[in-house]
Amino acid sequence: MLITHDTECALGMLVDLLNTAPEACGQEELPDLQALRDFVVRREISDVGALDQGDLEAVHTLRDRLRAVFAAPSTRAAADLVNALVAAAGTTPRLTDHDGHDWHMHYFAPGAALVDHIAAEGGMALGFILVADERERLRQCEAPDCARVFVDLSRNRSRRYCDSRTCGNRLHVAAYRARQRSAADAPDPVPASVGAGR
Ligand SMILES: [Zn+2]
Ligand SMILES: [Zn+2]
Repeated sequence: MLITHDTECALGMLVDLLNTAPEACGQEELPDLQALRDFVVRREISDVGALDQGDLEAVHTLRDRLRAVFAAPSTRAAADLVNALVAAAGTTPRLTDHDGHDWHMHYFAPGAALVDHIAAEGGMALGFILVADERERLRQCEAPDCARVFVDLSRNRSRRYCDSRTCGNRLHVAAYRARQRSAADAPDPVPASVGAGR
């Protein structure tokens, strides 16, 4: 799959954002402005000015709209959502080499509010995934009590669990215990000789 480092970074930012939502992780992980500022720092989102309560509420709303792209039933439905996001954000591509980074494209308009910044960068990254016909890589964790999203960038698209570490491990442990239990409950194994010689 042809996906640039910048797209991968933007997707990482999106996944991180979506997984702060109560429906993903059981509690609101962006409850206040400080949490939002921490998110901006953690994801190294550039050119962000002062943030206020309106920014926080707008980001919460955007989070829901972005999650809808992951849950979209078809590429066309996802494309419509991405188009709307990108248009509303006033997306403006431009080349930059800020802060010692190599030349790369920014999509957010100069001076954009944080929500538009995220919608432009995240929307374009999702758009590149759709253009590459890779929508199935936009996944929700398959652990039964987890609704975190992730982007499966594995070569063979085999990833099933989110990054929270606990999910895959926890299920492995549960499966192991279930196997142990059924082995203990099962009647003695059939001797290997029975049926041999087929
Ligand atoms: Zn940049
Ligand atoms: Zn999970």
